[in-house]
Amino acid sequence: MPWRCPVCGTENRDDVLTCKVCGAYKPEATTRKTAQIKESISASLVVEVLESPVESLVGRRFEFKVGTPGAVISVGRAVENQVIVPDPAVSRRHLRLIVTSNGVVVEDLGSSNGTYLVEGGGERLVKVENVGRQAVVRVGGTKLRIALLPS
Ligand SMILES: [Zn+2]
Repeated sequence: MPWRCPVCGTENRDDVLTCKVCGAYKPEATTRKTAQIKESISASLVVEVLESPVESLVGRRFEFKVGTPGAVISVGRAVENQVIVPDPAVSRRHLRLIVTSNGVVVEDLGSSNGTYLVEGGGERLVKVENVGRQAVVRVGGTKLRIALLPS
């Protein structure tokens, strides 16, 4: 039976134990064997505002201590997000960042204007993707640098 990743929603083959997109463990991974390979991580997820039409936001740095893979940081215009971006072109719940042991998964939450990965002098739309330990994403007119740092 293919299984759906509980973290990013990707369909994975039955014979793989971890999600091909985000590295999360298969949900029924409750046996002793998989418990042993399930690691904890000690890291900080840093989100830094590089550019924004909201001037007071430029240069702001949000830092989250992360102890286990699967930690989720929400980003959007609404105040209930952990990273609040009051850019009018950003959706109330725009995207979320999911920390895994091999990088950060960026998942767009069906935002109106999309989430773009900035790379190689250009940019492209992302839906759900592991962007590694360092990335720059654009939401509306705001560019965010994301970094997963050892702590
Ligand atoms: Zn996944």
